[in-house]
Amino acid sequence: MPGRHIAFQAAGAVADATGRLGQGLELEADYVVVGSGAGGSAAAITLQRGGFSTILIESGPWRDPEDYPSSMYGTMRDMFTDWGQLIATGDSIIPVVQAQLVGGTPVINSAIVVRTPGDVLQDWRDRLGLGDAFSERKIGDAQDKIEQQLKITQIPVDVLGPTTQRMLDGFQRVSIEGHIITRNVHDCQGSMQCLQGCRNRAKQTPNITWIPELMALGGHVLSCAPVHRVRVEKGQAVGVHGWFRHPENRSKGEAFSVRAKRGVLVAASATGSAPLLMRSGLDLPYLGQGWRAHPGAGVVGIYPDFMDMHKGPSQAAASIHHRLDVGIKMEHLSLPLELFAARVGGGGSVLMNKLEEYRHCAMWVTAVRAQAVGRLRHGWLGTRLHYVPTAEDLSRLRFGTKLLARMHFEAGAERVWHGVYGLKPEITKDELDLIDQAPLDNKAWTWVLSHLFGGCVLGTDPATSVVGPDLHVHGVRRLHVVDASAIPTTLGVNPQHTIMAMAMVTAQTIAG
Ligand SMILES: Cc1cc2nc3c(=O)[nH]c(=O)nc-3n(C[C@H](O)[C@H](O)[C@H](O)COP(=O)(O)OP(=O)(O)OC[C@H]3O[C@@H](n4cnc5c(N)ncnc54)[C@H](O)[C@@H]3O)c2cc1C
Ligand code: SF4
Repeated sequence: MPGRHIAFQAAGAVADATGRLGQGLELEADYVVVGSGAGGSAAAITLQRGGFSTILIESGPWRDPEDYPSSMYGTMRDMFTDWGQLIATGDSIIPVVQAQLVGGTPVINSAIVVRTPGDVLQDWRDRLGLGDAFSERKIGDAQDKIEQQLKITQIPVDVLGPTTQRMLDGFQRVSIEGHIITRNVHDCQGSMQCLQGCRNRAKQTPNITWIPELMALGGHVLSCAPVHRVRVEKGQAVGVHGWFRHPENRSKGEAFSVRAKRGVLVAASATGSAPLLMRSGLDLPYLGQGWRAHPGAGVVGIYPDFMDMHKGPSQAAASIHHRLDVGIKMEHLSLPLELFAARVGGGGSVLMNKLEEYRHCAMWVTAVRAQAVGRLRHGWLGTRLHYVPTAEDLSRLRFGTKLLARMHFEAGAERVWHGVYGLKPEITKDELDLIDQAPLDNKAWTWVLSHLFGGCVLGTDPATSVVGPDLHVHGVRRLHVVDASAIPTTLGVNPQHTIMAMAMVTAQTIAG
């Protein structure tokens, strides 16, 4: 029998078995999975396919592609975590972008799919002593399956926008590797709405792939249902508890409790899982620590001809040429006008003049494989993330910024906005070396965080990790963490494929 989707329930609306109202919703399954994004959806479908009853619980609402808001304001209101107001603090304030809806951040990501680099898995095996838990063979087998299930293909040339073509040209002119991106997208229309959710159903995100399959196989989904705590009894996870939250006014609804006969898998993201375990009273010395990211910043080239970044996929070209030597990845990134306004800086007439040039702009970004290690804390004010990119991280960003500016000029840009506060804001080709003077000070750069790792990192020593090599929480039976928070290092490539594969491998082991 197909499973049910249970959305927001108002306080007092649910009756218990004897018909008494206001007793809260109570359910039971073999496994409960918290969080329906990259990790949670991959784990849940694997368990349900393995014959275990599974309940997937998501704090955000269910949105079908037809219901995705068409404005960026609507996207932030309905899809982004905390209206996109999540931040990291330290010596500067850095926006942290994540989604909160059924399907998680993949619904609003660029769908880039990159296999886990072999050097990362070798490092985990040799330096972190993880053995064969995530061997190249296991991860490779899982990624083979994911690629087939999510229809991974390279973007067809006919939907590439002009800005992508320029970037590929730029790579060639400075003689570095550059390629067209491979994505979990089928039949892309090039409508550049990837970051607002693909209304064309082309992007193969969990809410249109694994989660409907989970329900067809009998699994249930709770949406608008933030889990408040994991219930642990006698050293064993036995279920979860929370209250529904209204998708629009965020008011508190009915309580829910879900009992897990076999175990709980937490996949509430690199900003959600550690705070959830903290709220659940878990006393683990490394919880919230080991938080890492690929902070990024963009460089805009202004061209004499139209670049029309509103056409084509949001991201379509990239380079890993400097992944190992410098520690950066370079990518094309097109933004809708509203987000572009937030990234190019300035106010009043300065900003309006910049926006008038939108059709002539192409934006390319550097994502830094940062050394910085941050920390999540949870207190009465909620979750706080402390994260400060190091001087070395800033110098890598400065290297990438100068290289991208040079590529823009080689590809025909007349001017460049480098985004560094304190330098002349707009430079021409003969002023390129000014970027060498950009201060190594976080306050001068417009970082954004979107590839996030850690908080519940995996390792062998409970003093420096939260989960073991099988993603099982140290010292608590039947509790696993299967999302980005378990990843113990940066990757240097886009993370969703690695997260999905690790979750799948772990769920297969549990199911086995
Ligand atoms: C704008 C953007 C673009 C990106 N582009 C790419 C890309 O092209 N390729 C790529 O590989 N990666 C990309 N990423 C990163 C990638 O999407 C994430 O690394 C990945 O989705 C993280 O997976 P996750 O399972 O850890 O968390 P998520 O996918 O974020 O899922 C976590 C889910 O848990 C839910 N949740 C949180 N707390 C609770 C709770 N208490 N109770 C119930 N549910 C809860 C959240 O609402 C969310 O739905 C991008 C990220 C962003 C922000
Ligand atoms: S470009 Fe348009 S059709 Fe293609 S994945 Fe993005 S939103 Fe979907």
